[in-house]
Amino acid sequence: MVPDEEYNPLIELAKALARRQARIDAEEESNGRDRMDGPAGGRGKWSEAGVPKKGWECINVEDLGEPAKRCEMCEAVEIRYVHYMVNTRYDGQLACGVVCAGHMEEDLAGAEVRDKSMRSDAAKRKRFPTLKSWGLSQKQNPTLKKGPFTITVFQRGKYWRAVVNTRGVDKPLYTRDVFSTKEEAQRAAFDTLIVAEQRAKKNRRTAPLADDFDLEF
Ligand SMILES: [Zn+2]
Repeated sequence: MVPDEEYNPLIELAKALARRQARIDAEEESNGRDRMDGPAGGRGKWSEAGVPKKGWECINVEDLGEPAKRCEMCEAVEIRYVHYMVNTRYDGQLACGVVCAGHMEEDLAGAEVRDKSMRSDAAKRKRFPTLKSWGLSQKQNPTLKKGPFTITVFQRGKYWRAVVNTRGVDKPLYTRDVFSTKEEAQRAAFDTLIVAEQRAKKNRRTAPLADDFDLEF
């Protein structure tokens, strides 16, 4: 009987080693090509059943001042600029980086606009509470009007929170949390204003606002 070469254990071993090396090479190549975040990496909740991958909406953003949080979608990248995302098919909100957020809302450019605003406005955000244009509302709460937006800071117990109202838009946007100082709440409102501005601009396509606005402080 002629031995079948395919069953030579040494050849089989060599083939297995070659296959293993090819797999390692392919993995290394794809690691270099793909990002850690976003759906392509398949990390974290991107591969979790029961977590919607689309249909998310950004309800707030926040500049943490430094990378201080892990993106709650890919659970892979450390983020400084946070996009808070909600979905009617998911309980609670996810704090996400710009790439994951863009994919979740299927609007990469929109997420990038918010991220850019946060990055370029860091200095403005810092001095926002000191602006001369802060006045007092009828209820004696600190308030500031800018274009179609009115920001009002108010106290609940020992905590501060703020709300952004947009003329012609029913739904007010609240800061993502309460804060122990008025200044922190004002800075959080500055972040929330980025989302309010983006929403108003999207809205304007269907319901134009009376005046144009570009938030320059
Ligand atoms: Zn992410």
